[in-house]
Amino acid sequence: MSASTGSASACTIRSSPLTSSTMAPREQKKKWLPKLATGELIGAIAMTEPGAGSDLQGVKTRAQKDGNQYKINGSKTFITNGQLANFIIVVTKTDPEKGAKGTSLIVVETDEVEGFQRGRNLDKIGLKANDTSELFFNDMRVPTSNLLGHEEGQGFVQLMQQLPQERLQIGTGAIAMIERALALTIDYVKERKAFGKAIIDFQNTQFKLAELKTDATVGRVFYNDCVTRHIAGGLDPVTASMAKYWLSDLQGKVVDECLQLHGGYGYMNEYPIARMFRDARVQRIYGGTNEIMKLLIGRSL
Ligand SMILES: Cc1cc2nc3c(=O)[nH]c(=O)nc-3n(C[C@H](O)[C@H](O)[C@H](O)COP(=O)(O)OP(=O)(O)OC[C@H]3O[C@@H](n4cnc5c(N)ncnc54)[C@H](O)[C@@H]3O)c2cc1C
Repeated sequence: MSASTGSASACTIRSSPLTSSTMAPREQKKKWLPKLATGELIGAIAMTEPGAGSDLQGVKTRAQKDGNQYKINGSKTFITNGQLANFIIVVTKTDPEKGAKGTSLIVVETDEVEGFQRGRNLDKIGLKANDTSELFFNDMRVPTSNLLGHEEGQGFVQLMQQLPQERLQIGTGAIAMIERALALTIDYVKERKAFGKAIIDFQNTQFKLAELKTDATVGRVFYNDCVTRHIAGGLDPVTASMAKYWLSDLQGKVVDECLQLHGGYGYMNEYPIARMFRDARVQRIYGGTNEIMKLLIGRSL
């Protein structure tokens, strides 16, 4: 998952005049998008490095032009799909002197390069269904036509344009899991008995579930509004940050309360609520931490 969970959603294709050394974005779309759709290409977006997560300006991976190739050196970590991906958008510095303005996105088709190495498949608390990996680039050579877009130095702008979509995607996972956790828990407390009656018959259970149901309803209304605006092409980055932080925080709260209503069974891996609890935690971390989301919202005030 993008941000990623780190999804490959940072692939921005612009439409300004071409330079001779770059492949036209239209050609890039024609070459790669059908294969991404069929699964022939499996995507990943490699931003995070051991020394640069929230502060992406600190990226050290270097891409140096050499004729019609880039020579890339550096390493990435926490990359979703890293073990499987054969189409990786790598955040690089093409001009380290220029900071953010020297950042470029370069596509690495891993089946076609030397100097690319996959590292460990990292051992996570949850989200066991996908891998999260280290990647290494040692004098890895990539054609200059794999630069995303028309010119170097656009990487940061491209990320800023596309990451709000990843943030909404994290909100999608959050609201889906909130509603599922609630439905499972309501079923469970109707079945489970204590002190001679169903758990749902205790007033505490009813009040707790009433609160969670209200939270979920408010979350759903906000989420639907974000999707409506996104489809219309108008979800602004600040609201996308609100959706990511607020819905993932809510997911953590709802899943935790639902686990509590399962008692000891909620702590057992055979119950879906236990897996939901493990999977929920990272939603507040990846795709930009919730603290960074608040920073972005704060800057807009
Ligand atoms: C399961 C998983 C999948 C991931 N998938 C991908 C992927 O596909 N591609 C990819 O590139 N990355 C991926 N990541 C990386 C993820 O985006 C980063 O972990 C995240 O952005 C945080 O960076 P960091 O881990 O370096 O934490 P740090 O930046 O070191 O942050 C540590 C703490 O400090 C806080 N902090 C940092 N700066 C500030 C500030 N200015 N103000 C207040 N608080 C601050 C943070 O909020 C956090 O609480 C993934 C991570 C995980 C766990």
